[in-house]
Amino acid sequence: MAPVSIATCQCTSNVHSHESQTTKSTTTPSKKSTLNFQDSELYADRPIRLTTYSTDSDIKPIPLNWFEKDHKLRGPVVCNRTGDGLLKHNTIGAHAGPYSIYHALSTATKQLDIKHKPDYTNGEPAVEFPMMPQWFTENKIVSLDPFGHLAPWLYQDLSNEENVEVQPTMSITKAILSLPELKDEVAKGNLKPDGKIVLNEMGDLAVTKIAVDPVWNLPGVALKLGITELELRRALFEDTNGMYPELITRPDLKTFMPPIGGITVYILGNPEFIPDPTKKLALRVHDECSGSDVFLSDICSCRCYLIFGLREAAIEAQNGGNGIVAYYRKEGRALGEVLKYMVYNARKRSGDSADAYFHRTECIAGVKDARFQELMPDILHWMGITKIDRMLSMSNMKHDAIVNQGIEIVERVEIPDELLPADSRVEIDAKIAAGYFTNGHVYTQEELKDVKGRSW
Ligand SMILES: [Zn+2]
Repeated sequence: MAPVSIATCQCTSNVHSHESQTTKSTTTPSKKSTLNFQDSELYADRPIRLTTYSTDSDIKPIPLNWFEKDHKLRGPVVCNRTGDGLLKHNTIGAHAGPYSIYHALSTATKQLDIKHKPDYTNGEPAVEFPMMPQWFTENKIVSLDPFGHLAPWLYQDLSNEENVEVQPTMSITKAILSLPELKDEVAKGNLKPDGKIVLNEMGDLAVTKIAVDPVWNLPGVALKLGITELELRRALFEDTNGMYPELITRPDLKTFMPPIGGITVYILGNPEFIPDPTKKLALRVHDECSGSDVFLSDICSCRCYLIFGLREAAIEAQNGGNGIVAYYRKEGRALGEVLKYMVYNARKRSGDSADAYFHRTECIAGVKDARFQELMPDILHWMGITKIDRMLSMSNMKHDAIVNQGIEIVERVEIPDELLPADSRVEIDAKIAAGYFTNGHVYTQEELKDVKGRSW
């Protein structure tokens, strides 16, 4: 098979530049499979163009220089076909990850006017985060847009002049968290209300929170993963079933908004202290586990760790520093819930012993883990973090990713045994044996056979 070179795409097909060709594909469609979009009123003024090519004479992407400090020289992320977006977009993919599909359903059902112009008045960040040197340090932040929370305002004039829509990819607000376990922590005396951070006897927490959608600088992501940009583009193209042809046809576009979930960051204490290394910081990096985090399933330690993380974050903030819980949408070690439940079944049907914990996952998914923690520290860089005093995690992958990117970890803190549900020992002991941090006992492969979970 001939290798694909994105730099020299010599496609001679004219499918992409002629509306009459919209039903053409490499196999000749039968009449039955031909779609006629002529009657569609929604996009009547817009011919279908399957993709664009870097060799097209009419494209004019808005310049985007990822590591530029000055936002004007940097340029906005433009990732939609609104206005002149088809010709001027500079980013492959679609906004808002999986929610782009719900946006499409809203327009298809005409509940959302295709000409709707978002009015972002008063949507500005509730808390200001100053620009950090990390924002424009080469290859430091490659999986989110450092200007994403300000984009609609920074690029309003450009948006009007160029007739393109510039959308936000981050937003910042304030909230109060009310979790039943934290009320218990107050009752036990582990958490003391102060009216500022721990608001009351209910254990309610005052937080600043940041929502982040992923925006990938493809060369930077490839570099962090230790592969070439070409390898990254090809795998993304193939594994999404050809969903993003521009990964192949637009080597000039270096930015991609992938169809994945993002991050929510919960900050306790004054956010101004975060970049200050003289202030202490406690951090929990948490990957989503809906079954435990939300529904308190007892098969793993996720919810317990989340609560422990929030408690310790609150205490660190009360001591004059900051506590942060960064929550990543990477369900089931980024393998997804469907595979995860099958792994549960395979575990329970074969005696659920800790020695076979990872093996069961590998049998079904082919890999133990698909979270790629290399991209995780980006949001930490964005907040200006250079030192973590208390890392509330036992994960060696999270630890290594953070330290390898130049952020110091002073102390690693494991979850106290008494907070773990009995059935989660299989998971935690298997992880410890595989290299997770502990001050306690590291089980041998032989001993792991005796660590068993509940059967059905
Ligand atoms: Zn879990």
